[in-house]
Amino acid sequence: MYWESYSHAKMKKIIFGSLKENLDYRDKPVLGLPASYLDTEVFYHDAPFLKDAPYLSALIANPNHIGCHTLTDSEAAFKGTHKIERELIELCAQQIFGGGNDHFDGYVASGGTEANIQGMWVLKNYFINECNAKDEEIALVYSEDAHYSMPKGASLLGLKKVTVSVDHDTRRILKESVLDEISKAQKDGIKHFIVIMNMSTTMFGSVDDIKEITHWLDVLKIDYRVHVDGAYGGYIYPFVAENDDYTFKNEKIVSFSLDGHKMLQSPYGTGIYLVRKGLIHHALTEEANYVKGKDYTLIGSRSGANAIAVWMIMRTYGSEGWTNKIKALLKKSDRLCDALDEREIEYFRNPKMNIITIKGDYISQSLAQKYLLVPESHDGVAKWYKIVVMEHVTQGVIDRFLMDLDSELETK
Ligand SMILES: *Cc1c(COP(=O)(O)O)cnc(C)c1O
Repeated sequence: MYWESYSHAKMKKIIFGSLKENLDYRDKPVLGLPASYLDTEVFYHDAPFLKDAPYLSALIANPNHIGCHTLTDSEAAFKGTHKIERELIELCAQQIFGGGNDHFDGYVASGGTEANIQGMWVLKNYFINECNAKDEEIALVYSEDAHYSMPKGASLLGLKKVTVSVDHDTRRILKESVLDEISKAQKDGIKHFIVIMNMSTTMFGSVDDIKEITHWLDVLKIDYRVHVDGAYGGYIYPFVAENDDYTFKNEKIVSFSLDGHKMLQSPYGTGIYLVRKGLIHHALTEEANYVKGKDYTLIGSRSGANAIAVWMIMRTYGSEGWTNKIKALLKKSDRLCDALDEREIEYFRNPKMNIITIKGDYISQSLAQKYLLVPESHDGVAKWYKIVVMEHVTQGVIDRFLMDLDSELETK
């Protein structure tokens, strides 16, 4: 994994250069596009600070990144910033997910939800187009700890839901449950399976054992394809992983999603969908005639500034800087876990993730409220509360939390 860190001056040059290659609504006689720069009463383009603010300048220039730019010619009006999005997709696929020199397709989606649904959509149509599958023969398989975008996507796409159980202490997917649920689905006429693997769940930071699980599926000889939900873990886990299981070197994986707007702290609207070449055409909307290059994405119009924001953060740190940042967060998480161990408090943590999920018995409601700990469910009594060790979670806040926890434990 390697990408270079750029200076602010270099990024400024690249971004302003790309904006210059885009259509400027002020320079050209634009009569046909139903779009313009942002409203000038509110977003005046001659604000003096803009010349040092490439992201805000891009936001105000308002390039539309509709469509997919890794595949076909797209709208020439915004070809400058499309290039930055293309570089971003390649950086993620080749460097974060070990894609080497291969090329990939992808785009900046509205979030992890959309990227996951795009992943399911591509695979659903793949089974229909390539395997003559009927809609009712395709199911979506995911664990009970998976994100709610899975049932949401299944509902939208008319996929049968196959939910498998996890062990409640280790959060590992249970083999018996996989075998049972798949066999039940087969009896219901399911012949093709879209399998979601979590490269970290939202609540526990648990990472599904993809090698073990795909081995079970291979033994069953079922027809399946894997999409990885890296919305939460995508900017964390690959930077400390010790093997290639969650990379494009693993032939089982078709596509990934990852969210810039979680760990990377980019603005909302920065989900990323990545897929091996030769598949995204299954999400082509042939009727998207007014879009140059047609549309292979779920979303339609979207802001080009989002791609620039993610690219800028990745380029500011470089791969080494980002890896060091993640390692520091994991160290801070280790220290909190040590403190919980000393107090014999039960929790779940994947050592490669920054989520610590504490059993509900140890946490009072008032403590949870004071520190905004998130319960696994807002209905009934919480079985678990999670702490996410982000940048704003300073050692001082952790210490205060532990002191409060101690005084509660004493009075118990
Ligand atoms: C946050 C998250 C999502 C959904 O992402 P949005 O950006 O909120 O749409 C999907 N999967 C996981 C594991 C997540 O943590």
